[in-house]
Amino acid sequence: MTPTLRVPIELPNAKPLSPTDPDSLFAMAVESVNQACEVVNAPGYVRAILSQPKNELIVHFPVRRDDGSYEIFKGYRIQHNNVLGPYKGGIRYHPEVSLDDVKALALWMTMKCALMRLPFGGAKGGVKVNARELSSNELMRLTRRFTSAMGNHIGPDHDIPAPDVGTNAQIMDWMMDTYINTHTDGAHQGMVHVVTGKSVGCGGSEGREKATGQGICYVLSELLPELNLRMDTLRYSLLGFGNVGAFAAQALGAEGGKLIAVMDHAAALVNADGLPTGELQQHVVNNGSIAGFKSAGTREVPAEEFYRTSTDVFIPAALERMIDEEKAHWLDCKVLVEGGNGPTTPAGAEVLRQRGIAVLPAILCNAGGVTVSYLEWVQNKMGVHWDLQRVDRELQRTIVLAARRVRLASHRHDTDLSTAAFGVAVEHLADSYLRRGIFP
Ligand code: NAD
Repeated sequence: MTPTLRVPIELPNAKPLSPTDPDSLFAMAVESVNQACEVVNAPGYVRAILSQPKNELIVHFPVRRDDGSYEIFKGYRIQHNNVLGPYKGGIRYHPEVSLDDVKALALWMTMKCALMRLPFGGAKGGVKVNARELSSNELMRLTRRFTSAMGNHIGPDHDIPAPDVGTNAQIMDWMMDTYINTHTDGAHQGMVHVVTGKSVGCGGSEGREKATGQGICYVLSELLPELNLRMDTLRYSLLGFGNVGAFAAQALGAEGGKLIAVMDHAAALVNADGLPTGELQQHVVNNGSIAGFKSAGTREVPAEEFYRTSTDVFIPAALERMIDEEKAHWLDCKVLVEGGNGPTTPAGAEVLRQRGIAVLPAILCNAGGVTVSYLEWVQNKMGVHWDLQRVDRELQRTIVLAARRVRLASHRHDTDLSTAAFGVAVEHLADSYLRRGIFP
């Protein structure tokens, strides 16, 4: 018999405590969850729990600059939910990191892990810093101070950070090393799995770097037929050509897809016959952006022309809130595939809905990264190292099964794929709460 749960504060229409700013990313994230709760008829207490993070840590810490001066930095770690397992989520280094954004990103991690059926909860962290302005030594000192400031709030079976915008495998190696060196009892010495996304030499997994982009390709292979599109003739645009965008381009290119338009922080390029994605990725490695890239048929264009270029699929893989109302009107595509998290403003999302542009949500499309992070954590715990084929196989299986769950839920609840994805995640979380009950 399932236990009856009495909830002290029942929130029938559950719009609890979300910030009032219309463009608040956290309010937008809570709204997506509330809509899904409506559709799957989740209990009010589940909505209430998911509408706020469990723990919010804010730290301030000094870092010595190379010139001998000291600067104080602000860091966040938001632990949203751990009903399914240890908190899990990336660390972002960016000058615009804010509490509201990190809370939204942590909530999306809870949803993503639940949708993927990973035994993880959701978290996110960040430091308000322009990492490009720091030397490698300054970056190392900042990372070590931030890690020690988080202290026991992270841990291999408690909260496991990973890379995000502005961080990479090197930063994860320093975090892991700092954690082990500040937890000097014997029990902690082998705990390299306190972070994932490490370099392979420090216990990282094969395939982690390309995992998120590769995952986008697996999702599209599964769901494009549902949207009357084909992989081998796919014409697509990319907003952002960093880790997610560039590796998505490699994976989609291998299936016959053509990158027609691309934009990053420095330039926008269009090529009606398809850009050579391998050469473009190498250009970014050498020059830091796509600006100045030359190839037959490639033109540099203003931003508006980039957004207005006609393609089947538009993939935002840059930062949050970039597709506002105006840009949503400019887009000329059938499907928007969320490669990055929260790419639209609420007003932009409404325009897409009115224009009948389907949206594939980030909690499905960019879940490849956390999936291979999970595989890295498993390998570290088991003391094994799998080859790339095995990692890819597990990634594909996990993502394709999740995409199928989303498709079935969209039919079952007669709703769009985005609401269906959140619905599948909420149902899994609600089931766990129902079985466990609320302590005490
Ligand atoms: P990245 O830093 O490697 O790349 C970001 C890209 O966005 C770069 O090409 C940059 O030039 C571009 N960009 C930045 N500002 C821009 C602007 N104003 N206009 C146009 N382009 C701009 O970051 P990433 O790791 O590829 O992450 C991108 C998104 O995907 C983020 O939302 C991140 O949270 C999400 N994500 C990343 C991963 C991962 O494994 N890396 C996993 C899940 C989700």
